[in-house]
Amino acid sequence: MSLYVMKFGGSSVGNTERMQRVAKRIVEKQDEGHQCVVVVSAMGDTTDDLIEQAMALNPEPTAREMDMLMTTGEQISMSLLSMAVQSLGREAVSFTGWQAGFRTEAVHGKARIIDILPSRVQEALARGQIVVVAGFQGMTEDGEITTFGRGGSDTTAVALAAAINADVCEIYTDVDGIYSTDPRIVKCARKLKEISYDEMLELANLGAAVLHPRAVEYAKHNHVRLVVRSSFNNNEGTVVKEEASMEQGVVVSGIAYDKNVARISILGVADYPGVLAEVFGALAQAGINVDIIVQSGVQNGEADFSFTVSKSESESALSVIQGLKGGLPYREVTSEENLVKVSIVGAGMISHPGVAAQMFDVISKQGVSIKMVSTSEIKTSCVIDGGNLEEVIKALHTAYNLDTDVQVFVGGPQDRR
Ligand code: ADP
Ligand code: ASP
Ligand code: MG
Repeated sequence: MSLYVMKFGGSSVGNTERMQRVAKRIVEKQDEGHQCVVVVSAMGDTTDDLIEQAMALNPEPTAREMDMLMTTGEQISMSLLSMAVQSLGREAVSFTGWQAGFRTEAVHGKARIIDILPSRVQEALARGQIVVVAGFQGMTEDGEITTFGRGGSDTTAVALAAAINADVCEIYTDVDGIYSTDPRIVKCARKLKEISYDEMLELANLGAAVLHPRAVEYAKHNHVRLVVRSSFNNNEGTVVKEEASMEQGVVVSGIAYDKNVARISILGVADYPGVLAEVFGALAQAGINVDIIVQSGVQNGEADFSFTVSKSESESALSVIQGLKGGLPYREVTSEENLVKVSIVGAGMISHPGVAAQMFDVISKQGVSIKMVSTSEIKTSCVIDGGNLEEVIKALHTAYNLDTDVQVFVGGPQDRR
């Protein structure tokens, strides 16, 4: 007997018929003699719909009320799925995130988990029940409800798997594994049999939506056996593990993209020691995450520099910089939004010179100019104009020998936002 955590994403529980299919799948797992803890996301586009309704009433809702609202989506799923399992003659019980023991820091919208006290989950398992837990939510010490950020149900699943010492954490979604790039963009993307935690962490951080970055972090630190597979078929999925075997001749294992990029440029800044610490210290204090930073040459004692933030934080970043104007002499501050970040990731890059140069060459042959670059041992990222994203990804996919002739399986609705 093994203990499984099975997580089903939004499209996997998108309507009652899909819910029933998922319930059958869970019962089959129990019939094989296993214990099951199930984590669910909100049904289909529920989270987006809730956000839309909130915006219609108040374009600047408080983060607290947004968390109160968004956590209801997962609660609908957990109770319906539990009922669907019960209708198959099995005992099931659903828990909200806080009932399952998720304690978080006091930050709305992107709270980190501080601790998990899963005694109720464990007691229910001991009673032979199937446990269904609402994803992406927890509670602060003061009893405030928090969420983990978009896509955070993956993190609920992996963190819970670590807390209850599960044998496997399976992430069921609308594609049948992790691919060399988003299979919705490149139809000849290659399904990976396995991928290392480190490569997957880079891909997830760089925008590959298939796994929430914190879920990968948790899996890596707690050695959780993580499998991504389809809820629409029984195909073998992709295993995320310590070390993945590298295919010969493949230096780049994956390509990711992130459309949620804004660039802020500060022009004509007086160049004195400590100026960068002042700017980025102020941004950090405002809780704004800065990604790529580029400083250009100094002329006449003045420098220009640019940095990227997520689109949702660009307004706040601009006002932080404008707020510094009195003490920080600069000429102008601008922001651009129609940008994307394309990244290549591969553990083999470290030992193969010229991989980044090839990326720049491929992008330039698409007639696209590169605005910013950032590199680490196993990745290179380029910020480019958003208009040519698909062509650039397809060209990179071909250039790094990632194309296959196998038809990609995509099981969910095609009209996702
Ligand atoms: P869920 O609702 O199940 O959590 P998500 O939409 O969050 O599903 O994640 C699955 C989606 O991730 C896929 O439909 C696919 O478009 C996207 N995706 C992006 N990059 C990849 C990749 N490298 N491999 C597989 N899927 C990817
Ligand atoms: N429902 C949340 C979202 O849409 C969390 C999740 O699905 O992982 O982002
Ligand atoms: Mg997801």
